[in-house]
Amino acid sequence: EQRMKTDIEIAQEATLKPIHEIAATVGLSADDIEQYGKYKAKISLDVYRRLADKQDGKLILVTAISPTPAGEGKSTTTVGLGQALGKLLADTEQTAMICLREPSLGPSFGMKGGAAGGGYSQIVPMEDINLHFTGDFHAITSAHNLLAALIDNHIHQGNLLRFDVRRVSWNRVLDMNDRALRQIVVGLGGPANGVPRESGFDITVASEVMAVLCLAQDEQDLKERLKRMVIGYNLDKAPITVADLGAEGAMAVLLKEAIKPNLVQTLEHTPALVHGGPFANIAHGCNSVIATKMALKLADYVVTEAGFGADLGAEKFFHIKCRQAGLQPTATVVVATIRALKMHGGVDKASLGAPNEEAVRLGLSNLSKHIENVQMFNIPAVVAINKFPTDSEEEIRIVTDWCRDNGIPVALSDVFTRGGDGGLALAEQVLRVVNERPGSLMYLYNEEDTVQEKIEAIVRDVYGGEGVQFTSKAQTMLKRIEEMGLSHLPICMAKTQYSFSDNPNLRGRPEGFTITIRELRISAGAGFIVAITGDIMTMPGLPKVPAAMNMDLLEEGKIIGLF
Ligand code: ADP
Repeated sequence: EQRMKTDIEIAQEATLKPIHEIAATVGLSADDIEQYGKYKAKISLDVYRRLADKQDGKLILVTAISPTPAGEGKSTTTVGLGQALGKLLADTEQTAMICLREPSLGPSFGMKGGAAGGGYSQIVPMEDINLHFTGDFHAITSAHNLLAALIDNHIHQGNLLRFDVRRVSWNRVLDMNDRALRQIVVGLGGPANGVPRESGFDITVASEVMAVLCLAQDEQDLKERLKRMVIGYNLDKAPITVADLGAEGAMAVLLKEAIKPNLVQTLEHTPALVHGGPFANIAHGCNSVIATKMALKLADYVVTEAGFGADLGAEKFFHIKCRQAGLQPTATVVVATIRALKMHGGVDKASLGAPNEEAVRLGLSNLSKHIENVQMFNIPAVVAINKFPTDSEEEIRIVTDWCRDNGIPVALSDVFTRGGDGGLALAEQVLRVVNERPGSLMYLYNEEDTVQEKIEAIVRDVYGGEGVQFTSKAQTMLKRIEEMGLSHLPICMAKTQYSFSDNPNLRGRPEGFTITIRELRISAGAGFIVAITGDIMTMPGLPKVPAAMNMDLLEEGKIIGLF
């Protein structure tokens, strides 16, 4: 039997079109784009300003049931749906585009692999996209670390702002999984080397600069957001911001190119904007607002994605990204796999290959809660069953029958093995929903609600929990947030993606649980309050046998082993 090709083999066999040809399909001229080689380009923000009065296309969010180690395939479905829409619209005047996050380089060398879709639904050039791409993450890393250097220099040069060196909250960042750097001491070696203090490294995607870049509307808003970032506290415990230090201008200089969205293509030449990649736990986990808004001006249908399951990704997409940017999504695609449904139905990872109809039936409880949730936001859901070779026909029928009985549009999606052709049924369902009964976004809490009320609304309505507990540390922060006048900000929940609860082992649709908020952090620049429920890792480590060990560079620059 023939072995299925790996993602990188498929990507390397693809014939790409020059990027200016892709740009032309959405009305962009050679002057509108800045090429980074043959197959990547940045789009000038002037394009958006020029098209400001043009009517927006329709925005479709791809999200998923609670993920399991089996993997759901949101990115793959996003790319495949974009390709399928491209096929369906080929003979019309209409166009489709996709918007994705830029993959983080560090995790690719660990165990996650790339994040540019999979099989015959990928964005290319996949090696570039997964590695240095157009340098955005390097720019963000530099801007972040410039600020860190300015802070330590300020303290060294007399500390006019009276930083409490024990309460500097601005770490350094690096786009690499390097657990040895989690906690460090800087300034060692005597007075010439600064003031000793504890610090640490986070991975670049955890930087608030990343979240700021992804939520900024333009260059001016970028600077305003940078200014508001809290970098530490003084000896009276009053917050110190970037504006106090006056660092926003220099940081913006470093981000001048990174703020422009990157244009690439899918394996079937669908135009794709790949821009920004904030963490999905301590940040909101969506590609940049600028890319999404640009795509809505360029295409009639825009498919985008949010990290983790719908309890986290879609909730933050709606409450944070859409609300801040004034975006109006029309439909949500909820991706489910038979394997994951079986895990939610109680099957362990080792037994997922065997058919188990009863487990699929039980696992539907998880899917059903996610559908209810997006419907609570008044956005219709379409279910995409991401097909795996081990799925039995009977197992698939259980899901499709359940959806039909409950009036939920559903389609089997085989975009991984068949590309756009495998997503035509899904694309048809999506087009029907967005054109016949598009949603109109409603929020589950008001800006004026207290931080506590907002968190309670999310826990009660979205997670299906009984209540919320705040540790004394979190209660202290609740007071401080109020004193700082930041209670109007939305909440960014940092919770395990594996369960509706804060216990990753409670799969399916758990009930009767409470959520403990251990800590609250202020991301005043991004414009949200991070509510932390468990151990949140902001600097990942490498596994025992990192993916890096299988990678190599062959003759003529060919890369192998990038999954
Ligand atoms: P997510 O965006 O939900 O994290 P991805 O789309 O990145 O998921 O997919 C996770 C992994 O699973 C990738 O390596 C991808 O190639 C693989 N994958 C996704 N869908 C399928 C499928 N239908 N069959 C086989 N492998 C798949």
